[in-house]
Amino acid sequence: MNIKRILVTGGAGFLGSHLCDRLVEAGHDVICVDNLFTSQKSNIVHLLKRPNFEFIRHDVTHAFWLEVDEIYNLACPAAPGHYQYNPIKTMKTSVLGAINVLGIAKRCHAKVLQASTSEVYGDPDVHPQPESYRGNVNPIGPRACYDEGKRAAETLFFDYHRQNGVNMRLVRIFNTYGPRMHPFDGRVVSNFIRQAVNGNDLTLFGDGSQTRSFCYVDDLIDGFIAMMDGPDDFVGPVNLGNPHEFTVRQLAELVLELTGSNGKLVFKDLPEDDPRQRCPDIGLAKARLNWQPSIELREGLMRTVSWFRSIDFADYRAPTPNY
Ligand code: NAD
Ligand code: UDP
Repeated sequence: MNIKRILVTGGAGFLGSHLCDRLVEAGHDVICVDNLFTSQKSNIVHLLKRPNFEFIRHDVTHAFWLEVDEIYNLACPAAPGHYQYNPIKTMKTSVLGAINVLGIAKRCHAKVLQASTSEVYGDPDVHPQPESYRGNVNPIGPRACYDEGKRAAETLFFDYHRQNGVNMRLVRIFNTYGPRMHPFDGRVVSNFIRQAVNGNDLTLFGDGSQTRSFCYVDDLIDGFIAMMDGPDDFVGPVNLGNPHEFTVRQLAELVLELTGSNGKLVFKDLPEDDPRQRCPDIGLAKARLNWQPSIELREGLMRTVSWFRSIDFADYRAPTPNY
């Protein structure tokens, strides 16, 4: 097989650690660069003894120098509570991080994939969201540091591609969940499962009628690799996510059922600019990558619940305030 040197920024995080697992298993030489802001070493500790895995603690807003064949750029806080904790730093991570990895890609003629997000569509007026939709983002609201940072990174990726011929890929990830989500990241799946297994009430923001579409992590990693290995004339953007849409209330009820919890639903204020609906149109990924998710929410949640039951929450440092 063709063994490659692959850099994964944000490789100690939730998605990054699963991606590193997959790439190490495939025999590639994997370098994980992460400052552990929203993750911890336990996500990758099992990889540290592997000869084809290397961890570098580094902040991607500062330049770094590596020689690689491929780059997956995932470094960025992703949960709303995490990215709003230090919004200026979030914007720097998206923009300066993109410039730094694009610089490596340009110098090394490496292929580089950017982990963008459904948040580039903001609070969407078009539903489900196709890649051609330009979005409805509030540029000055509390989510803007993340949304606009990711949008600026998309611009940089396309300009390096057009101006410098950088071989790049752009994926827009919709809500993804699974084992190794930080239990205190404040995202809806991790919050509900942590609350339920602790026998606590589940916190619904607003009336719980807003929708999201939840993709299990293994499906998403398949999509990452399909896109990286796909044809050079298909750079994206491409949506990766599960098109099965649920209300947040339906998610809460399913988590209560699967955990057998007696917790109740309690209602809290809806955060500012919280998108009312979100669902990917994955027609393009199906047509060009022959990719679609295969793990339904019930199955994925059962796997995630059993991982949450297997960890000790006290081992997890909460980087930001949380419920
Ligand atoms: P995560 O917080 O678990 O992972 C992000 C990783 O980036 C962490 O390990 C963190 O320590 C690291 N990081 C943050 N700032 C850094 C910096 N300045 N320098 C180096 N490392 C830094 O979140 P995740 O869910 O695994 O998200 C990974 C990527 O996927 C992010 O870019 C995110 O925007 C994108 N994404 C995720 C989802 C999702 O549902 N999980 C949805 C859309 C987009
Ligand atoms: N949410 C909720 N209770 C929680 C955490 C989140 O009702 O404890 C809602 C949140 O307001 C949003 C949805 O769940 O409407 C998804 O939130 P998350 O933070 O997971 O990601 P988002 O898709 O908003 O980036």
